[in-house]
Amino acid sequence: MADKKVEAITSRDVDFAQWYTDIVTKAELIDYSSLKGFTIMRPYAWAIWENIQKKFDDEFKRTGHDNVSMPLLIPESMLQKEKDLVEGFAPEVAWVTHGGSEKLEERLCIRPTSETVFCDHFAHVVQSYRDLPKKYNQWCSVVRWEKTTRPFLRGREFHWQEGHTLHETEQEAIDETLGMLDIYADVAERCLAMPVIKGQKTESDKFAGAEATYCIESMMHDGKALQAGTSHFFGQKFASAYDIQFTGRDNKLHTPWQTSWGVSTRLIGGIIMTHGDDNGLRLPPEIAPVQAVVVPVASHKPGVTEAAEKLVAALTAAGIRAKGDFSDNSPGWKFAEYEMKGVPLRIEIGPRDLEAGVCMFAHRTGGDKYQVKLDGVETSAKEALAKIQQELYDQAKENMEKYIYEADTLEEAAAQMAKHAGFVKMKWCGDPACEEAVKDRIGIGSRCIPFAQDKKAGVCPICGKPANTTVYWGLAY
Ligand SMILES: [Zn+2]
Repeated sequence: MADKKVEAITSRDVDFAQWYTDIVTKAELIDYSSLKGFTIMRPYAWAIWENIQKKFDDEFKRTGHDNVSMPLLIPESMLQKEKDLVEGFAPEVAWVTHGGSEKLEERLCIRPTSETVFCDHFAHVVQSYRDLPKKYNQWCSVVRWEKTTRPFLRGREFHWQEGHTLHETEQEAIDETLGMLDIYADVAERCLAMPVIKGQKTESDKFAGAEATYCIESMMHDGKALQAGTSHFFGQKFASAYDIQFTGRDNKLHTPWQTSWGVSTRLIGGIIMTHGDDNGLRLPPEIAPVQAVVVPVASHKPGVTEAAEKLVAALTAAGIRAKGDFSDNSPGWKFAEYEMKGVPLRIEIGPRDLEAGVCMFAHRTGGDKYQVKLDGVETSAKEALAKIQQELYDQAKENMEKYIYEADTLEEAAAQMAKHAGFVKMKWCGDPACEEAVKDRIGIGSRCIPFAQDKKAGVCPICGKPANTTVYWGLAY
């Protein structure tokens, strides 16, 4: 029975896309609703999302941000005030045209993002420099009418957080933009065990209406990139368009400086594709809904169930998210089930273990099962979870480093990508036409201009002009 469950997943190396789809359904993360692009996040996925939310939310609050809730619907006239934003999002907007049976005088857009509503509000509440900064965030879902959809990665509705801040000075807003990117990178690496590259998007790839867009890019197991979070510096563009002004310290009227930043449920897709293997999901302990599962073996024997229950209680009391599986499924079935679900630590206990005062630990990251004393089991479990968290990060980091290539010419880049997808480090002159040409000729797009630039001089592989900027190029989800 256990084997059968494992067989049900396509191998990661045979068909990565099918493997991904198998995981999202078999690990009970997603159900497809009858409306295309709108997925149901099942309890297990939602529990993962809640844990991710908590990690980010704690950081937002620690750095002085307040959570708010903005309206779901935006009048068309309000959206029209900033033309870049309208042009950027127009093809993906869903419209509400009727209220009950009555046709509305003005159609309403379902928020694809909430810059406009925040600006509308800021214009009401900001009058003086004393009202600044405004550091707001909201957790919500947004709708973008995407043509192709994929669970977690691209949906017509997805859950996210959007931070929106307003500042007195340009420097403060820049510091906020980059500070939030640092928080994204830190939580991604420390909690999601997902190594990231911090950088800036090229002009052609930045957010509609932004002066600069910064991002964290991560690499999935198949070598493709996932944009895991973005932070935008708006300058004064939106504030001007929405007539936000404040009286400054000099008693004159000024326009404030603005940022926005977001991460979404796409991070769950990132966790799946970074850490998952042929037996299913592998969840970093920091965000796993169940960190340790206790499986009684030969539970009909006297004392086994009681001992397993005691074990769960001891782990829970120590702050570990633990659960016992006391169902009548076989231990083998349970082993496969919790591997599929990616539970980091499995603890087995049977009659002989009980007699010896021990239990068995098995890590989802592999290695042999080993014996652990019941006395002080909480400490051992915490050590094991910390080790698993680190192992997942190290493995992902190794994978990323393996598939970062350097290339001086398009031919070199194409040859490397043909062997295995990855990030190609290649020089760029800064001309959008050359960026476009790379994509046209060898099919890879710019992922980001990494903050960590090498000092080497080079030439642009397209136009041959001197080029000092290193860009990461690759395929992306
Ligand atoms: Zn060029």
